[in-house]
Amino acid sequence: MTSLMDPRTPTIVQPRRSQDRALPLIDAPVAGQRDLRPGLSGLSSDALRDWFSQRGEPSYRARQLVDQLWSGRAVSFAEMRTLPAGVRAALDAEFRLDTVADTAVRPADEGLTEKALHILDDGRTIESVLMRYPARGLRRERATICISSQAGCAVGCPFCATGELGFWRDLSTAEIVDQVRFWSRRLAADGRRVTNVVFMGMGEPLLNAETVLEAAAALSDPQRFGLGARHITISTSGVLPGIERLSALAPQYTLAVSLHAARAGLRDVLVPLNRRWPAEEVVEAATRYADATGRRVTYEYVMIAGINDTPDDAAQTAALLRGRLAHVNLIPMNPVAHTPWQPSDAGRIEAFAGVLRAVGLHTTVRRNRGIEIGAACGQLAAELAAQPTPAAVARRREILVERSAAALRDAPAQARATAVPDATAAVISR
Ligand code: SAH
Ligand code: SF4
Repeated sequence: MTSLMDPRTPTIVQPRRSQDRALPLIDAPVAGQRDLRPGLSGLSSDALRDWFSQRGEPSYRARQLVDQLWSGRAVSFAEMRTLPAGVRAALDAEFRLDTVADTAVRPADEGLTEKALHILDDGRTIESVLMRYPARGLRRERATICISSQAGCAVGCPFCATGELGFWRDLSTAEIVDQVRFWSRRLAADGRRVTNVVFMGMGEPLLNAETVLEAAAALSDPQRFGLGARHITISTSGVLPGIERLSALAPQYTLAVSLHAARAGLRDVLVPLNRRWPAEEVVEAATRYADATGRRVTYEYVMIAGINDTPDDAAQTAALLRGRLAHVNLIPMNPVAHTPWQPSDAGRIEAFAGVLRAVGLHTTVRRNRGIEIGAACGQLAAELAAQPTPAAVARRREILVERSAAALRDAPAQARATAVPDATAAVISR
């Protein structure tokens, strides 16, 4: 079988239907069978301490549990031998130790990348990915985990497998951090550890901002997961209020903005949220984040052959970002079946990078590792969805070609409005 991570292997995905969301549902439990116990890892340290004190247990028990929860390898309360049996039974009655317990893992990229498909208790599926970067020179080995923040996504970027699946629901704090705990346990078995976490899996993190911030706080809390805030990246397609919220809090997280086009007409098609929050405003807000935190903002730019990779696109992107505390990451598009689009070739990407570098913008080209995005962006979940008919895929491709052609001609705003997928329209009008 061809590797899932092979960017040249298009994944067939279900076409968008407004009423009937296409997210795969695996043996969804019927009402009454769902496990309604909250995930323990979603609780704050204070809440855990209160739980113990209400039971008259000494406070060091809370500490023992936190250690087990965040650094231990136990996969059931029964294995937490440092806690008395009565406490373990009480915890088990009230909480789930793991909200992503039902997980299948597939290796790729010669073992350097592993992709997990987590089945949630309501039968919805989400993905997370481990990318290992071996030590090089003075640089220590890194293990980056790419995690999902929502099941599906309402933004509907047409080149993204998750966008094509549509939106199902927000993840809870526990469902987000449990993806990291899953990989942490797996790496620990090998004497390794998680060094970076990126919110670049399924979903738009800043449309689930409250929960994503709670999850990031848990991951960066020295009492809990203890990852340095600078090792956490939150990627957004440009949810302006969310970026402003981050600026007000000014954490040390890396902010990544998915730009993909500087031209309004084209960005309206590639990132439909642009109709609500245009690129210029998003970049201004991201710059305020850079000012508030002193942290360089990463701009992601998916390179799509003949769509957004022209010299003019490069010049407009350079003009938009010039002089800002920015790093531009050019990413060859990972092909997905519902689009006719292909990644730009290496020459185009280098020429584009050259224009940006010429105005002093720090620019890198991301080796397409299957994830660093695309693979984490719903392609595995999409594979499990029912296969669309070839006719449906062909029709979807035709629509995209028409829309992108209109955008490339800088079609009037009214024509562009048709480029907004159903679920996105709801987000835009929120
Ligand atoms: N919703 C957020 C975070 C998840 S997507 C966002 O859009 O930023 C993470 C990154 O993967 C984004 O930059 C997104 O544009 C990119 N991506 C999605 N599908 C892709 C594909 N087929 N090829 C390359 N990059 C893709
Ligand atoms: Fe959603 Fe990000 Fe995919 Fe766009 S690229 S559809 S915002 S997950």
